[in-house]
Amino acid sequence: MHILACVKQTPKSDNVKIDPATGCLIRSGAESAMNPFDEYALEEAVVLKEQLGGQVSVITMGPPAAENVLRDSIARGADKVYQLSDMAFAGSDTWSTSYALAKGAEKINEAQKIDLIICGKQTNDSDTGHIGPQISAWLNWPNAAFVKRVVKADEQCIVVERLTESGTEILQLPYPCVISVVKEISNPRVRSVKGRMAAKRAEVVKWTADDIGADKNKLGIQHCPTRVVKSFSPQRNTNAVVVDGANGKEKAAKLVALLKENKYI
Ligand SMILES: Cc1cc2nc3c(=O)[nH]c(=O)nc-3n(C[C@H](O)[C@H](O)[C@H](O)COP(=O)(O)OP(=O)(O)OC[C@H]3O[C@@H](n4cnc5c(N)ncnc54)[C@H](O)[C@@H]3O)c2cc1C
Repeated sequence: MHILACVKQTPKSDNVKIDPATGCLIRSGAESAMNPFDEYALEEAVVLKEQLGGQVSVITMGPPAAENVLRDSIARGADKVYQLSDMAFAGSDTWSTSYALAKGAEKINEAQKIDLIICGKQTNDSDTGHIGPQISAWLNWPNAAFVKRVVKADEQCIVVERLTESGTEILQLPYPCVISVVKEISNPRVRSVKGRMAAKRAEVVKWTADDIGADKNKLGIQHCPTRVVKSFSPQRNTNAVVVDGANGKEKAAKLVALLKENKYI
């Protein structure tokens, strides 16, 4: 079983600030770490490897400093790590990012067939939840998003339970396939001393856009289809209006009038 986990380096805290002048995330000075959901994705990959045998590879697309999350992945049980890093990727939206990751996966797949790609549900900075399903679309592999439990996995297929808006559903996917996982999937382990030592020594395979045969017309801020018109931190407004009345009926009537007055209804 060859599992590829996708991990992203993101700001350590959820308190991501936006520069009001440029509309960009303020990354300088912000401590970075593995995106929290990716810890769960990687842990599940390592658990499946322990159950079924095989190898866990990890890929990230990001600036040179993103190498740190790959070394961290080795400390957490990964075997091989790949970094896509090139100015051609800069400013990519999710369409371009997932394209690059899919091209990277294709290259890894050529050397060693991938059975399963595992992503986190979403990141704590851009937070779109697009990347897993988009990778599956680029590769034309089946996808299950919001996976909370692996019911069964063997050499032939994987059976997963995924969250839906109304409950859960069980899906059986043939390999190769892509899943994105929620936090219920696993409990990330504590990094072992042996793992930390291996992380220091590990080779990080670094690829540019040319190395993965990516079409540069699909990469970077010049070519991605998304245009961010404006980004801003919402103002916190603590002004509250208490709707008073003699009884529930009167309060409800006042509330409806207030909502109408402010054109909410
Ligand atoms: C116009 C535009 C410009 C942008 N410019 C920049 C920019 O200059 N710099 C910048 O950093 N971001 C930029 N972004 C944001 C960037 O496109 C997204 O962060 C990126 O596409 C990943 O999306 P996400 O964080 O929403 O991931 P999600 O879809 O929420 O993540 C789901 C899962 O996909 C995997 N994943 C996501 N991203 C990666 C990754 N890079 N490597 C490996 N696995 C991953 C992880 O498993 C993650 O849990 C820009 C976005 C837009 C729309």
